[in-house]
Order: sequence, then structure tokens, then C-alpha cells
Amino acid sequence: MTSVTVKAPGKINLALHVGPKDSAGYHDLLTVFQAVNVWETLTAEDAPEFSLTVTGDVVLDEIPLDENNLVIQAARAAQRVTGHGGAAAFHVDKKVPVGGGMAGGSADAAAALIAVDALWGTNLSQVQLLELASELGSDVPFMLEGYTQIGRGRGHLLEGVESLPFFWVVVPQPLHLSTPLVYSTLDELRGDSAPALPTAPSQALLDALFAGEAHALAQELVNDLAAPALTLAPQIQSVLDSGTRLGALAGMVSGSGPTCVFLAEDADHQARLADGFDAEGHYVLRASSPARGAHRLRR
Ligand code: ATP
Repeated sequence: MTSVTVKAPGKINLALHVGPKDSAGYHDLLTVFQAVNVWETLTAEDAPEFSLTVTGDVVLDEIPLDENNLVIQAARAAQRVTGHGGAAAFHVDKKVPVGGGMAGGSADAAAALIAVDALWGTNLSQVQLLELASELGSDVPFMLEGYTQIGRGRGHLLEGVESLPFFWVVVPQPLHLSTPLVYSTLDELRGDSAPALPTAPSQALLDALFAGEAHALAQELVNDLAAPALTLAPQIQSVLDSGTRLGALAGMVSGSGPTCVFLAEDADHQARLADGFDAEGHYVLRASSPARGAHRLRR
């Protein structure tokens, strides 16, 4: 095989509860992830050494093209585990906003694992892929699995959840919030009093997902990182206010932000909402969920 193409989705966190830090300094999480059909497309071709190019209609300036890129890190990790001596020339076409809390870098890492495994014929098992993924980053295992998952630990311990489709309007912001900075701002806001984590997501949230009830889901969206994201980027509040004014069922900061996501009743409502944001001068993406995890395109 000389070329492999893999698609991987963006994600939103429908619920994101942040608990105390563990001994390694990571916050303990209880989250419900849902993959959305905003796709990264990664192509890997046989090559004598690693290289990476990136295109896309998102702001690309901050993406490292060297060994710091998660794509190259994922390929090196796969090389280490398999002992394979080859390399690859990667190209990523990005649709997920960079540094926007939708885990585009993690999606690229998951895509790269699947791509090199196929390109090199190394036949890694799903368990091996998931182990490699959790070394690369907390959100990478979710990007392999996709759909809807409860995430525990650092978000890397997954449990699948049933969900009917939902319709969203995604409003990326022209700024980048560093995820570590958002967490440390949460710590500052909380002082010494991190609340205990709930042991499970609310039953009402799981019921709303199972039944495809957008109105019920709107009542259950929760994000502990919204307060620190708004502290660091207060201008996000006006975007959330626009969503309320335009009739979104709910609006929230996505993960560590600053991208905002708005829940619509159905596809027609999603189109009206997107037009409303567009008319106010916002760049918007329409997304539906749940979407498949990283997967190879076979032609
Ligand atoms: P998360 O919520 O998982 O922190 P995010 O969506 O906020 O993710 P990403 O777009 O994944 O943020 O990227 C955050 C940073 O990671 C970027 O600013 C960039 O420096 C670095 N990075 C490394 N590899 C990639 C990649 N393949 N794509 C995008 N960013 C990458």
C-alpha cells in the first residue's frame, strides 16, 4: 500500500465535570463526549522520512509542522511499539478549529495511528491503538472510538452511550485558549474547594440522548470549564447571548473553549440559527452528532 486516507471527527462535551487533581497533577474528570461531523482528513503516503503539510479553512498559524505535531508524535509512538522502520509523508486537511476546545489535534493523532497501522501493515489491535492513544493525550482514545462516550479519569477511560442524532451550530472564535491555562484558572477561581465528582452523568442527560429529545438535552448541558474560559475571554459572553436571542435551545462553551456550540431542535432550526449567526457576522459551522470515530476511507 502506498497511500491511506483517514477521517476523524471533532468533539463536544455535553457534560464536563472537573474534580480535584490527582497525584500527577491531572484533574479527575467525568465527561460525556459526543463526536460531531466536522472532519479532519489525514492522508499518509509511503516516504523515506516523516513530513507534514496542513491545509484547511481554519486559522493554521499555531500548528507546529515538526516533531511537536501530534501527527508525528503518533507515528513515532506506533513505530516504537511495532518496531517498524518506515516513515510517512502526512497531509492534514483541517476543519476543526485549532485551539478551540474541539480536540482537533487529538483527532489528527487518532487518524495518524490508524493511517500508519494500515500503511505499514502492522495490524495493531484496538486495545493496542487505545493504549497508544492514551499516551498521546487524554482525548485521543475518544477520537478512536467516536460516537457518544462517558469519559472518566483524564477522559481516557471510556464507556459507550446510546444517542439519537442532534443538530448543532458551532461558532469558532478568533482566539486560542490554552487548555492548561483554562484548568489553572479554574483552580484559582475555586481556591482550595474542588467539589467531589459525580459518580455518573445525570440520568436525565442519558435519557435525553437515548430518546433524541433536544429540549430535554438542552436542560442538561453542563461545563465546569465555562467559568474560567469566560474569565480569560469575557467576549465569549456576547456570542452566548446571541444564541439566546436567536432562539437556540441552549448554548455552551465547548470543552476548554473558546468555540461556542448551540443546540437546535432539528435540521430546519439549525439552518435558521446558522443564518442568524451568519447575519450577525459570525463564522459558523453546522454539525450533527453523534459521528463515527477515526476511520479509514476505502475507495
Ligand atoms: P483540547 O481541547 O484537546 O486541548 P483544542 O481543540 O483546544 O484541544 P487543538 O486544536 O487540539 O486544541 O490544539 C491545541 C494546540 O496543540 C495547538 O495550538 C498546537 O500548538 C498543538 N498541536 C499539535 N498538533 C496539532 C495538530 N495536529 N493540530 C492542531 N494543533 C496541534
